[in-house]
Amino acid sequence: MIDFYNEVLKEKENLLTDLKTLCQIPSVLDKSTAKGNQPFGAGCRQALDAMLAIGKRDGFVTDDVDGYAGSIDIGEGEDVFGILGHLDVVPVNKTGWNYPQFDATLDGDRLYGRGVADDKGPLLAAYYAAKIVNRMQFDRRYKMRVIFGCDEENGSSCVDYYFKHRPYPAMGFTPDADFPVVYGEKAISQYTLSGDFSQHDIIGIYGGKRFNVVPSVAEAYLKGDVKDYEASFKAFLAQYSLKGMIGKEGNVVKLLVNGRSAHGSMPQKGINAVVYLCHYLNSISKNALVDFVDRYFFEDTSGKALGIANEGRLGTTTVNLGVLNYKEGHAQIKLDIRYSDELTHKKLQETLMSHAKEVGFNEKHNDTDALYVDPNSELVTKLHASYVEYTNDHDHHPQVIGGGTYAKEMPNCVAFGAEFPGRDNHMHEDNETILLDELLKSTAIYAKALYDLIKK
Ligand SMILES: [Zn+2]
Repeated sequence: MIDFYNEVLKEKENLLTDLKTLCQIPSVLDKSTAKGNQPFGAGCRQALDAMLAIGKRDGFVTDDVDGYAGSIDIGEGEDVFGILGHLDVVPVNKTGWNYPQFDATLDGDRLYGRGVADDKGPLLAAYYAAKIVNRMQFDRRYKMRVIFGCDEENGSSCVDYYFKHRPYPAMGFTPDADFPVVYGEKAISQYTLSGDFSQHDIIGIYGGKRFNVVPSVAEAYLKGDVKDYEASFKAFLAQYSLKGMIGKEGNVVKLLVNGRSAHGSMPQKGINAVVYLCHYLNSISKNALVDFVDRYFFEDTSGKALGIANEGRLGTTTVNLGVLNYKEGHAQIKLDIRYSDELTHKKLQETLMSHAKEVGFNEKHNDTDALYVDPNSELVTKLHASYVEYTNDHDHHPQVIGGGTYAKEMPNCVAFGAEFPGRDNHMHEDNETILLDELLKSTAIYAKALYDLIKK
């Protein structure tokens, strides 16, 4: 049996040198330097050139698709096995880092720097894996194509463009999420509801900033005096063990409720401050808006009251009310809804809007399809077996998630690493990090998986 980890160790220094090269390039979206063949700005262009140069240096055929994305072809075969990663990174804070932000610094057993975990490190791990496999003599079904986009962090227009101009590989994986392997991702629909509501005692309600985050704070402004609301508001806070405050601001009463933030794909893990506040407001005021929120969202993150609850092969429906703004009689609500693909986008729209239209809401929305690859397919079982072989982890199984990885950009593609279960690599945060040994282990896992999948 081939010891891929041992083969990876021989490449360790080369891998670290290339990772340093890529991480030293601040490949953050920069519209001010966007032009012609650098649609995402100078940094992304430079990172793309650096990755293409690595491929050329190693003797492979490279492809630059107008600065949106690029690829490196490794080996020969009738069909193509794709590996999809990205070279762009999210911006960094000026303070808060203990290491240079744009570098790959080894301190003890860890690497630090923007991109070491998301996604330059895992992309290079997969590239080196392909390189190692390619040196071996065996008959192949597939050639390997490492594809790298430059706009994953801002909507993945890079691969939309790439796949408009290049064919899809037969199958593949994306090293831009978690081990062991993600074979299913829910569909996502984001709705913006807008409508007008007469005001009565409620002057304004504000909470949340984004579709996909559970709002942790919500505020309401009411006519009247503090004494009109104080007793009932405090009783409400006590009943639901919430923190909040009530006070006078100018000549109106201000209420504030604190909840707990969570990712919009797991709204049940948060405490939605907006929804709780509306539950209180519905008890003291007649207003169709707060009645709507209370009726369809209070202590219900599974869409039961809306009639869109569904327990399917990708899990249960989740509904996050991410934003509510109500000002001068005009309300806007932003919803993030994730669901298994037995429920269609259209059925969801009809059901949701049958309730929302009743109170006068209009909608704008955006749908993302679900991803599902048979967990018993050759792709998923071989990826998983390779993970088990190099980790001896029999406890974590192929999984379905709330959705939204790069894998959705390519048919017959699943997310595969490189964050290990229970690990927090501080992606998108200060001091982004990855354990050097986990980067090397990922490389070995990818190599074995590629070997097993491409051989005849
Ligand atoms: Zn990423």
